Amino acid sequence: MIYSNTPRPESLKSLSDAIHVPFWLDDPARPTPRPLLTENISTDLLVIGAGFTGLWTALLAKEQNPARDVVLLEAGEVGTGASGRNGGFVDASITHGFLNGLSRWPAEIAILQKMGEDNLNAIEDTIKRLEINCDYCRVGEIDIATEPYLLDEFKELIELAKPYNIQFQLFDRDQLYEIIKSPIFLGGIKRPDSSLVNPAQLAWGLRKACLDLGVQIYEKTPVTKLEEENNFVIAHTLHGNVRAHRVALATNAFPPLLKRISYYIVPVYDYALMTEPLTSSQRDSIGWHGREGLSDGNRQFHYFRTTADGRILWGGYDAVYHWDNGFGPHLEQRPASFARLAEHFFQAFPQLEGIRFTHAWGGAIDTCSRFSPFWGTAHHGKTAYSMGYTGLGVGASRFGALVMLDLLDGRRNERTVLQFVKTKPLPFPPEPLRSIGIKLSQWSIKQADENQGRENLWLKIMNWVGLGFDS
Ligand SMILES: Cc1cc2nc3c(=O)[nH]c(=O)nc-3n(C[C@H](O)[C@H](O)[C@H](O)COP(=O)(O)OP(=O)(O)OC[C@H]3O[C@@H](n4cnc5c(N)ncnc54)[C@H](O)[C@@H]3O)c2cc1C
Repeated sequence: MIYSNTPRPESLKSLSDAIHVPFWLDDPARPTPRPLLTENISTDLLVIGAGFTGLWTALLAKEQNPARDVVLLEAGEVGTGASGRNGGFVDASITHGFLNGLSRWPAEIAILQKMGEDNLNAIEDTIKRLEINCDYCRVGEIDIATEPYLLDEFKELIELAKPYNIQFQLFDRDQLYEIIKSPIFLGGIKRPDSSLVNPAQLAWGLRKACLDLGVQIYEKTPVTKLEEENNFVIAHTLHGNVRAHRVALATNAFPPLLKRISYYIVPVYDYALMTEPLTSSQRDSIGWHGREGLSDGNRQFHYFRTTADGRILWGGYDAVYHWDNGFGPHLEQRPASFARLAEHFFQAFPQLEGIRFTHAWGGAIDTCSRFSPFWGTAHHGKTAYSMGYTGLGVGASRFGALVMLDLLDGRRNERTVLQFVKTKPLPFPPEPLRSIGIKLSQWSIKQADENQGRENLWLKIMNWVGLGFDS
């Protein structure tokens, strides 16, 4: 079934009380921000940006070498970027899915899969070891078919994955109905190597762990400029500077501090809704007592999951790029996308007609043309960056942090020898070609969904060149 994009009055009504704040950040456990930087200081390692990438970098840097001074500067508050506003799917894949990894790094996919699984296990171990209370659950993720051709694609995926020992599980319509009841779900494929988390609580737990190990965190302290000075990099902020031996840039889709990054990243806005907690009869009407993470298998897809207090998060579908890498809080609210999401929700779960959405929000994804993180250095190796996660960075950000530390410490190891780490995505063209190309790709993706997955010439050429668009 193709979702209808015309919102009915009932769907619009379900949104009328929703507040425009990410559900996860609307939590009494949100910590009071640390003071901003108001003096000039020096450090061994400066981390810029306190989302998952920056927090893992600071934590791992301290765990690897407790004697190292680490300073973390955050423009807003810890976790208020993408890390505190995502779906909370923690995927083992560090390549934005097995298929993307297989098509781009066929010679390395086996090791990349293994590194991804180790990374997910390490995240889980850290959460347990540090006793971070963040509703972490290893429940797996099911991709769902709403069109028959997707079931064939799932079967092909299982064949492709066989040599790599990935344990996919296929469900037909009846088997899926035992897990989740929707009139439009035709079957699904489950990957066990995926977890769910309350992302803001994870970020705050990592923040506390960093503070406990002596990381100095300054919030509401945007870095305005980086400058190389002899053996140091100077980070300028409004009320003080940091003189650092090494700098780790973890600024994701935000306007970059290094010009070169803007060729590789486009900020793409993704939106999500959260329902009120379901009553027990509403829950019984849809089943889904197992808390599996779900998404539909279309190219333009929704992701959905439940929370500890029995709500449903429903997000995705629209992926909005604004002219010339447009960015800012004003783009986090988009009534048309909220209305479309609400309408699609009730098409998937007509049993829940009448339920209200309490939260509606958006956030920016750092899309790059290969959909998976990339790394690089600047200032003669004193600065490193990790970004480009393209909507699948909750888990991959820890791997990104490890690689950044490898690069800053000059380590050659099993990670830094990978082509995956050594190469960069193809850059996006400048405007107006950037906007035109993205619009054409989005239109073509929609066409493919409406034409049994068949890709038009534009998508075929883009795939062949290696220049993709995804969220
Ligand atoms: C709506 C939405 C849903 C998503 N769902 C999922 C999902 O379910 N699973 C998944 O794996 N991924 C998902 N993602 C992507 C995931 O959230 C990101 O890949 C991940 O959080 C990236 O973490 P980060 O630390 O690199 O970036 P961020 O969390 O964005 O952190 C970057 C930080 O840098 C700070 N900063 C920027 N510039 C400066 C500066 N000049 N000075 C100081 N600080 C600065 C920002 O304030 C920000 O806090 C989603 C993203 C969005 C927006």
